[in-house]
Amino acid sequence: ARDLTFNLQNAPRTSAKEPVNSMSADAYSRLHEITVSGGDVPAPFTSFEVAGFPSEILREVHNAGFPSPTPIQAQSWPITLQGRDIVAVAKTGSGKTLGYLIPGFIHLKNCRNDPRMGPTVLVLAPTRELATQIQDEAVKFGRSSRISCTCLYGGAPKGPQLRDLDRGVDIVVATPGRLNDILEMRRISLHQVSYLVLDEADRMLDMGFEPQIRKIVKEVPARRQTLMFTATWPKEVRKIAADLLVKPVQVNIGNVDELVANKSITQHVECLAPMEKHRRLEQILRSQEPGSKILIFCSTKKMCDQLARNLSRPFGAAAIHGDKSQSERDQVLSHFRTGRSPILVATDVAARGLDIKDIRVVINYDFPTGVEDYVHRIGRTGRAGASGVSYTFFGEQDAKYASELIKILEGANQLVPPEIRDMASRGGGMNRFRRWGSGQGRGRGDSGYGGRDSARGG
Ligand code: ADP
Ligand code: MG
Repeated sequence: ARDLTFNLQNAPRTSAKEPVNSMSADAYSRLHEITVSGGDVPAPFTSFEVAGFPSEILREVHNAGFPSPTPIQAQSWPITLQGRDIVAVAKTGSGKTLGYLIPGFIHLKNCRNDPRMGPTVLVLAPTRELATQIQDEAVKFGRSSRISCTCLYGGAPKGPQLRDLDRGVDIVVATPGRLNDILEMRRISLHQVSYLVLDEADRMLDMGFEPQIRKIVKEVPARRQTLMFTATWPKEVRKIAADLLVKPVQVNIGNVDELVANKSITQHVECLAPMEKHRRLEQILRSQEPGSKILIFCSTKKMCDQLARNLSRPFGAAAIHGDKSQSERDQVLSHFRTGRSPILVATDVAARGLDIKDIRVVINYDFPTGVEDYVHRIGRTGRAGASGVSYTFFGEQDAKYASELIKILEGANQLVPPEIRDMASRGGGMNRFRRWGSGQGRGRGDSGYGGRDSARGG
């Protein structure tokens, strides 16, 4: 048994059947497609007020202008505040970061550890960009709670990171590689960690961090609370959850068994020959509102550089990929964020976990190797309830993904181009290229929106 339980003095006693804030917990869960498993799951906090958070935390939430908790926050907060392990599965952009940070702040308040002896809260995240975003959120929302936080990531000098650790911090947000380096140097102790978060667990495993994660977790005392946040729930993630978590409660928002795309994104797919792509790209770019942030994906670093070069003069574009130095990446990202160069051309690896607000359009110049990456890529737009648009160039070489792509499009009520259906039914190969779908929104009851059976390829 663990004695990490937080007693919510002000929190109402809600059971799954009592009404919460005018809407019953059941109705709220149905409305937001919340499903839970595990015993005695507390009712969701349907508003910030019923959460009973300390006033300094409520103040920061109100300052941020958030009207209400997101569904994943509403359901994961009461579970986490009971000190229980949790697996939270919700799509990108659903507010998972505060889902674990706020209970982490409250956990810290109760522990009162000496930060000079090591952090109490440890958050692992896949990339430097993501780790710094989490740190920014922790600083912003933890400010009035006087919480200190630092970020450890590769590609930057260790000196300042080590100095922060020596001074003492409550929260460490780290990428697994750099944290392991610092552990090996014996410059950090994890013996005080009692709140461990694995954020974007699916991405961390995709990127091959499993051995590093397991090494790190060995240094964390077994008496701890472990939280896993992930956008998808594949078997690799299930396996590591089974190994590292104790009797977790699982919370899913929406249907996570199937790969589903965010329905607030309008997805255009166009069948194009390689030589047609550049011209069509420029056409799309010219049709956007000036200054709109646009993220373009291509499959090779070379193509990234070439596109960014071609587009930099007329549109203000820059490239980000694995061959760029960290300072170049930082500069490119900051110019993109501020809108100085509103077009970013990226590879999948470089774009992983980026949370850049207000990306209006995602363009798949090259189709990715698999529909899972497709869903992740277009998920860079349409964040936090905003609407987004994606354009995808699909060629003959991508025909093997046609039937899976159709499932994704139909699952999100999007139009399916007839050419894609042809490809799927033939099991690959196109006999002609024709541009399709430009300027079309999502349509219902259109001729291109036929039954599922026609989608199955041979
Ligand atoms: P995820 O980790 O699920 O991809 P994030 O935690 O990065 O999502 O949140 C996405 C965006 O939503 C961020 O800009 C965050 O500040 C914002 N956000 C978080 N919680 C809320 C809320 N309750 N209401 C509105 N916006 C929120
Ligand atoms: Mg996140």
